[in-house]
Amino acid sequence: MHHKTSPAGRLSPRYISNKYAVGQYPHGFSNSFADHDLSDDDVRALAPILPVAILLPDEVIGKTREFMDAFTGNTMYAVKCNPDPIILKAIYHAGVRHFDVASISEVRLLRSLFDDVELYFMHPIKAPEAIKEAYDVHNLRVFSVDYIGELDKILKVLGDKTDLVLYVRFAIPKDKPKGGVATDFSTKFGANFDDGVTLLKECRPYCSRLGVSFHVGTQCEDPFVFEKAITHISRAINECGVTVDALDVGGGFPASLPGPSIVPPVTAFTATIETAIKDHGIKGLDLICEVGRAIVASGGSLIARVEGRKGDLLYLNDGTYGGIFEAGGAIGLRYPVHLIRSDAHRPPLPHQPFRFAGPTCDSVDMMNGPFMLPNDVQVGDWIRIEQLGAYGEVSRTGFNGFDATHKITVSRQVD
Ligand SMILES: *Cc1c(COP(=O)(O)O)cnc(C)c1O
Repeated sequence: MHHKTSPAGRLSPRYISNKYAVGQYPHGFSNSFADHDLSDDDVRALAPILPVAILLPDEVIGKTREFMDAFTGNTMYAVKCNPDPIILKAIYHAGVRHFDVASISEVRLLRSLFDDVELYFMHPIKAPEAIKEAYDVHNLRVFSVDYIGELDKILKVLGDKTDLVLYVRFAIPKDKPKGGVATDFSTKFGANFDDGVTLLKECRPYCSRLGVSFHVGTQCEDPFVFEKAITHISRAINECGVTVDALDVGGGFPASLPGPSIVPPVTAFTATIETAIKDHGIKGLDLICEVGRAIVASGGSLIARVEGRKGDLLYLNDGTYGGIFEAGGAIGLRYPVHLIRSDAHRPPLPHQPFRFAGPTCDSVDMMNGPFMLPNDVQVGDWIRIEQLGAYGEVSRTGFNGFDATHKITVSRQVD
């Protein structure tokens, strides 16, 4: 990704106007800066023929501060959710000094940006070379493990150390198929109860501090899921027979998305966590979380153009291989959407549910929503999709030649 820095100023149509033929657009991310968010009239004037990713770092600063006010422990940011340096700087600016990284590239990126942050290598399965470079070169001391093989690997790579901070990641059993979350993170990672308890004992001699962690699954819309997870984890803390210093309650805090029920505010989750910790008598532990989606989702939007319409199916110029991965079948998130008519004077029709199809020829590139839009939507209109600051641009691919986008950063304070 290439990031051009230029003084904040009015949106320059130079970067975006449709005077370019498709093939003349620069590939990948171009970047321009605007001091105001795009109005519908701006979009009509600019008439973008490529998807436009909009970054709103000021919004991220606000959401991060709100979260930090609500959460009594240390707020750590899960970098994979949105690793754009503009967003990382906004989160740092808001006061976050802990970052959850999963690859050596994320470690290097964070160290290149900030030298006073603590990095947590929270991927339970790491490459040995990544462990070594992180420890030797980047002063990283915190690692997550979810089975004995990973502890063995770390000790083999680093030799006998006593300055490690190790977090044992537990799987959280579910009593419902999806258990109130969009994606269950305990099917891929996490120790079961008995193995986790054993692993805590095995880790203790090698660490200066020992923690437990879990991840309830992303876009968790039910605070009670955290209560159940803390019940599970507190039993492990009490049964393991060694001193546990820290509790990491993971991520999963939701973004505000449309759906059958209203998403509870972040304070409902932080209050539930606090009560559960008190109720289970584990209040003395250092508390930390790995927030991602909840602080960055509203910091990004996407403007896509309608290239075809068949009834309730809209063919867009962006899709699941582009900036809207999580709207696809595997996760099926719904997003708030807004129609920008190519003709501002067209009489509006009532809203109805729509499905989206992405631009690639792959039939899995479909997004069933439903997305509520006025029924007068037609080819050549644009649709603005909100809450895409989380897991949006980061998973864009160039599949099928749909690799070019525009990027606009809207900010009054970012350089
Ligand atoms: C992705 C991830 C997160 C962030 O999850 P959100 O649902 O975005 O809050 C936190 N921790 C780990 C280990 C992750 O893999």
